Amino acid sequence: MRQTREVIRMGYIRRPAYYKAFRCIGSDCTENCCIGWEIDVDEDSLAYYETVPGDFGERLRASIAPADAQTGEPAHFRLDAEERCPLLNDCNLCEVLLHLGEDKMAQICTDHPRYYEWFSDGREDGLGLCCEAAAELILAQIGAPAFDVTEADGVSETGTEAETELENVLFSMRNALFRLACEDAPFDDKADRLYRTAKAQQEQYDDLLFPFPEDEDADETDEDTASWSQAFWRESTLTSLLEMLLGFEINKDDWRTLLTGAKARLPEIIARREAFLQAYQGKHHEYDNLLTYFLYRHFMKALGDDAVQDKVQLALVSTAVIQLLDVYEWLAKGEVTHWAQICICKAYSREIEYNEDNTEQLAAFSVLDEME
Ligand code: SF4
Repeated sequence: MRQTREVIRMGYIRRPAYYKAFRCIGSDCTENCCIGWEIDVDEDSLAYYETVPGDFGERLRASIAPADAQTGEPAHFRLDAEERCPLLNDCNLCEVLLHLGEDKMAQICTDHPRYYEWFSDGREDGLGLCCEAAAELILAQIGAPAFDVTEADGVSETGTEAETELENVLFSMRNALFRLACEDAPFDDKADRLYRTAKAQQEQYDDLLFPFPEDEDADETDEDTASWSQAFWRESTLTSLLEMLLGFEINKDDWRTLLTGAKARLPEIIARREAFLQAYQGKHHEYDNLLTYFLYRHFMKALGDDAVQDKVQLALVSTAVIQLLDVYEWLAKGEVTHWAQICICKAYSREIEYNEDNTEQLAAFSVLDEME
């Protein structure tokens, strides 16, 4: 699946129902997305910026580092010593918007935190959890996930019948996963059912791709009967997982501090998790929403690598890591406030989700192997 493809005909646009409620909170945002992120400048914006006259035009061009053909790095705004976009003023407002208008902002600045995925017959849009205004909406949902579907011109591309069929198979598998994610059941039971379902879905998908006679002698393996949750919440698994996360490139020190603190208190986190879940009972829907969010955003990427089960594993591990950090927060502060939960979610998303190497490694992290 690619992020941008030639668009040619009428198709659907699917969006989570909360999407339309999103508003950037601008200067009220505690973690402005123009601080600490490298911001690419697309070619159309770059061409326009070349034509902007006067002092502001000069300053605009001086703020952009050109594309580097050798490293493949695209043109981007040069961050200042405090990692701020040089066009962010003291009130945290964008000077491109103020001087030239919203439609002249670089594509990524207009889009963020929205993301788009294209399919044969349409497009799916979503909001990234790394933005605090989006996280607020994502966490607040109650009940089964709801989507708005509209028709629009130019959001679809011609795919082969086989491509469309594969997409539909995956969409229907994802719907089954959504239903499981929102069942009224304890989190661990739900995680086990999601894991077993993902394993069965992987087999179905493989059969579809490689329709060879089945190995009739195939026995049930330990992995078929083992509990994903039991394996995940073992100290050895969590130690390996946190070491993996600490080994990734880290953007902000608060994330390293959080992971290091949690790692130091793992035995206590495991021992007190049930008590935390009791105390946090009224908010368990947040974990359903996170499972749904990660499935919606990442599951269909299996079209690119056929790794269906890994995409579910990514959703499970991501949600469980956020829960682990919640337990740590609860142990450290005596409660997990709504704001603390938003901060944990956006830090996880910022550090993990926007780096493909990270998501691939987490998706492939074998929880059940850690039992051996
Ligand atoms: S992180 Fe979200 S709320 Fe904050 S400035 Fe960016 S888009 Fe706006």
